[in-house]
Amino acid sequence: MSREVVIGLEVHAELSTKSKIFCGCTTEFGGEANTHVCPVCSGMPGVLPKLNRTVVEYAVKLGLVLGCSITRNGKFDRKNYFYPDLPKAYQVSQLYTPICRDGQIEIWTGGQKKPIGIREIHMEEDAGKLIHGPGDSGTFMDFNRCGVPLLEIVSQPDFRSGDEVIACLEQLREILLYLDICDCKMQEGSLRTDVNLSIRQPGGELGVRTEMKNLNSFKAIRRAIEYETERQINILERGGEIMQETRRWDDEKGESCGMRSKENAHDYRYFPEPDLLPIEISDAWLTGIKENLPELAHQKRQRYIRDYGLSEKEASVLTGHKNISGLFEDISEQSGEPTEAAHMVTGSIMYLMNSRAMLPEELRADGSKLAVLISFVLSGKINRNTYKEAIEAVFTKDADPETYIAEKGLFMSSDDKTITGIVTEVLADHAAAAADYHSGREKAFGFLMGQVMKKLGGAGNPAMAEKKLRELLGG
Ligand code: ADP
Ligand code: MG
Ligand code: ZN
Repeated sequence: MSREVVIGLEVHAELSTKSKIFCGCTTEFGGEANTHVCPVCSGMPGVLPKLNRTVVEYAVKLGLVLGCSITRNGKFDRKNYFYPDLPKAYQVSQLYTPICRDGQIEIWTGGQKKPIGIREIHMEEDAGKLIHGPGDSGTFMDFNRCGVPLLEIVSQPDFRSGDEVIACLEQLREILLYLDICDCKMQEGSLRTDVNLSIRQPGGELGVRTEMKNLNSFKAIRRAIEYETERQINILERGGEIMQETRRWDDEKGESCGMRSKENAHDYRYFPEPDLLPIEISDAWLTGIKENLPELAHQKRQRYIRDYGLSEKEASVLTGHKNISGLFEDISEQSGEPTEAAHMVTGSIMYLMNSRAMLPEELRADGSKLAVLISFVLSGKINRNTYKEAIEAVFTKDADPETYIAEKGLFMSSDDKTITGIVTEVLADHAAAAADYHSGREKAFGFLMGQVMKKLGGAGNPAMAEKKLRELLGG
């Protein structure tokens, strides 16, 4: 019997607001345990939460970009459950009125475009962390993460393979980074994905699904999908039934194990959060957010190709990460030379990053200094070798271009006298080669050019030297 895998995602994105969703505590990752907490986020009785406006704006931004309808009059709900990482014993979330609904994200796999439905995006607070001590020293609670704002993005069960899932997560990651609302550091848990997976006959009714948690890298997600697909198919082939359950992926063992049978909404005794005001999004607020949406990667790609005449390939490299397109735009604006700026970033800068295994998020380079180098090379003040060398100096040690090149004596001598003097000397020293040239051996010209450039040192302007050499050789 032919089988089809069906996958739906629940993605949690931790927002990069400065403060938490209902109090003024910092959202900064890490820190000494229980130092980023206050009575509100540690669940003391009698306190009142106050909604962070920026969280709503970030949610709306993402919703707009994903073509969702925005809930203009919404509220929060309490999801009640007991677990030691949740000091209030409830999570403030949105069950009935998610802030965004019915959107779509376009993915590319195997050269094909495919829309993936976004069922909803809702706002909620994160829980704390449990730290299991060595041996039988016990389990410790760190509430620093309690109340860090999260968006939960819930897809439709539209995925048919691990490749599609990864393509979607990469696309979502790119959008979150360009919107500047989540740092997407999977290793720090800023972007967490739960994978719901079931098997069915192609086009048939949905099968019973399992939900996999604890997937903290793209690689883990891919492996978990392969493992779970095989596990479910094996059960079905033997005539067995899939149990609806939540499973935990163990990336070291490369296998998942059942954690608990799947809970339903009623298990959480949801009810409207009584301590928070309803959320009202006015026309003016919504318009303001719309007007301030930044340009996204695919829009930048199109613009680079259209306005700067860059190739598809170059444009893709430049928009691969917000920091790379940011640097390119900076250099391009300051130099007024987009083509040269594109070559510099896709060439030298990418090379320097790759050779240091530097991640785009670590990229820091002074765009104005790099722009100065472009003006130097285009005006003939430095040659291409010096240009490359100086790019590296700016990139690695933030060198000042002018000082660096002057100290190394690499500004090209373009003054006529120096060049005339050197060419005259070379012709006198290598009369035989000059004679060869006159008898029609063009090769001799190359030799003489080499001698001239050697004497000029790294600072020789080859175009001028060549002109002078031809002139003095005559005929
Ligand atoms: P819950 O909120 O109880 O986890 P939902 O119905 O909200 O369940 O679905 C959560 C996720 O699971 C969604 O991404 C949805 O697309 C996906 N999903 C639901 N049913 C299936 C199924 N039979 N197979 C695969 N994915 C599914
Ligand atoms: Mg769920
Ligand atoms: Zn707090």
